[in-house]
Formats: sequence, C-alpha cells, structure tokens
Amino acid sequence: HAKEAGRGRYSYFTGIMSERADQRMRTEHDLRFALANEDFFLAYQPKVRLPEGRITGMEALVRWRRSDTGEVVPPGEFIPVAEETGLIVALDEWVMHEACRQNRAWQDAGLPQVPVSVNVSLARFDPERLIAHVRKTLADTGMAPQWLEIEFTESQMFTHLERAQELIAQLKALGVQVAVDDFGTGYSSLAYLVRYKFDALKIDRSFVQGLPDDPKHSAIVQAIVGMARALDYRVIAEGVETCAQADALQRHGCHEMQGFLHGRPVAAAEFAALLQRGSVAATTAARSSREA
Ligand code: C2E
Ligand code: MG
Ligand code: MG
Ligand code: MG
Repeated sequence: HAKEAGRGRYSYFTGIMSERADQRMRTEHDLRFALANEDFFLAYQPKVRLPEGRITGMEALVRWRRSDTGEVVPPGEFIPVAEETGLIVALDEWVMHEACRQNRAWQDAGLPQVPVSVNVSLARFDPERLIAHVRKTLADTGMAPQWLEIEFTESQMFTHLERAQELIAQLKALGVQVAVDDFGTGYSSLAYLVRYKFDALKIDRSFVQGLPDDPKHSAIVQAIVGMARALDYRVIAEGVETCAQADALQRHGCHEMQGFLHGRPVAAAEFAALLQRGSVAATTAARSSREA
C-alpha cells in the first residue's frame, strides 16, 4: 500500500510540476512573441509632494496587452518568467526607451517637465549592456540625463553588492538618478547606504500599510526617514492608500509619496492631463493633510 501511495503521490506532484513547466513555457513563448510585436504599454503613476500635492515625478510601470485576448496582464504575472528566461533585459530596454521618448514628447509639447523613473531588473546582471543602453536611449530620444531615474530593488542590488556599486557610480557619472526600490525588505547591510551614491530611497509598501496605528511600523518609517535625511537622500513612501497614512508620513518627515490615494497608474493620455494640471486634485492633497 505504501508503495502504491508513494507512486500516486509521485505522479501527482510530477503532474503539477509538468503543468507548471508547460504554463511557464507557454508564457515564455507568448512573451517572446509579444516583445517582437511590441504588445506592451506603459502606465504612469505620479509621485507627489505634500502638502501642496505637486507632481514631482512619475514611475513608468509596464503592462502587457495580450494580442489574442486583449487582456491586460500585470507585471507580477510575467516579470518572474521574463527574469528566468532572460527576456527581461530586452523588455527593460524597451521600457526605458519608451519612457524617455514619452517624457521628451511631453516636454516638447510644453507640459511641465518632471523626471520619469523606470524599474530595471538585475536578475541578469550585465552592467556594460545597461550603461550602453542608457547612453543610446538618451542620445536617441534627446532626453537630458537628469530626467531619467532608475529604480533597482534593494534585494537585487544586494545580490551583486560589489559590482552594483561600480554600476551605480557609472550611472551617476552619466548624470542619471538612482533610487533604491522596496527599501527595507532586502535584508541588506546598512553599510552600503554610506558607500553607494544613491539619490532616493523608496520605503516599501509593507511599512506604509501599518501606519498610523502600528507603533513598530511607525518606528521603522521614522528611522528610515531620519537615516535618508542624514545621508542626503530623497525619501519616498510607496503604496500610500489612505489620508491617515499620508498624515502620519508627513508627521514623520516624509513629504514625497506615491500611492493609490494620490493617483493610480494610468495610461499616457490620462497622465498627460494630470501633468498639465501639475498637481493632484487640490481636494486630495487638502484632504490628506486635514483628515486623520
Ligand atoms: P514597484 O516598482 O515597487 O512598483 C510599485 C507597484 O505598486 C506597482 O505595481 C503599483 O501599481 C503598485 N502600487 C502603487 N501604489 C499602490 C497602492 O497605493 N497600493 C497598492 N496596493 N499598490 C500600489 P505593478 O505596476 O503591478 O508593478 C509591480 C512590480 O513589477 C513593480 O513594483 C516592479 O518591481 C515590477 N515592474 C513593473 N514594471 C516593470 C518594468 O518595466 N521592469 C521591471 N524589471 N520590473 C517592473
Ligand atoms: Mg519601482
Ligand atoms: Mg517598490
Ligand atoms: Mg514593490
């Protein structure tokens, strides 16, 4: 009986595993096709400075519109496969180029200019290729480097500690800005904050979620803000959803934020209208500094 059960279990798990492998291969195949077909587009989310609600930046977030179903797939569902297969490199290159092209087009159209941030995966660590692509993108699109910011997650940077330091130095030398994404979740040594020359830290959403009531999360947020200020980094809170969170962040000295409260990621045309205004609706900004 044990033998039979064992065999049953074996084939059950093998079944699940090969189903997963099939699924992954289908996604890989579809992603390859989508890249060639340019089935991606960018959603833009504002970064906002309180109390005025002025837009100080935007993050470009990739979306995949499947050509077969028309369905829009969020990055959480395909970035991991893109990273495993190495397709992420070409995808991130496309995103950076499109974000710079769009930013420059808005500037040419006379809209207020704010920097655009892109996420670059370090799963396939190739600093030479990345630097070459940044140079080429800036040259091709005519964008000045100070308007481009690159976000690296703390955990991926930490995986390549020494070589990432060199990469960041090279990006800074080009005049591009560098931010640490999902800060506080990467299990990294704080020593790297002193050695590296970043421009900004983005406090991970998981800490913001606990505000204002969780005293431990409040303490962590205050510590990150204090540290960022002492080291002369800008500090941005991610995932701000409620007025109470925005208020607590302001009390803790974090004035820049990004989250559904001040604006969801939206398609380019909709974001242009927001940029034209230059700030999020006064009501939202006022509300978040008034309500507790
Ligand atoms: P991220 O860089 O930390 O981006 C922030 C994510 O949080 C976005 O999810 C955004 O829509 C979401 N978000 C923003 N405000 C709120 C909020 O108030 N509440 C909640 N619950 N979520 C909020 P999205 O667009 O699904 O992207 C997820 C992740 O996928 C990104 O996290 C980033 O790590 C990755 N990603 C997105 N675009 C790219 C890309 O072009 N290249 C690479 N390599 N990764 C990307
Ligand atoms: Mg990001
Ligand atoms: Mg993040
Ligand atoms: Mg995140």
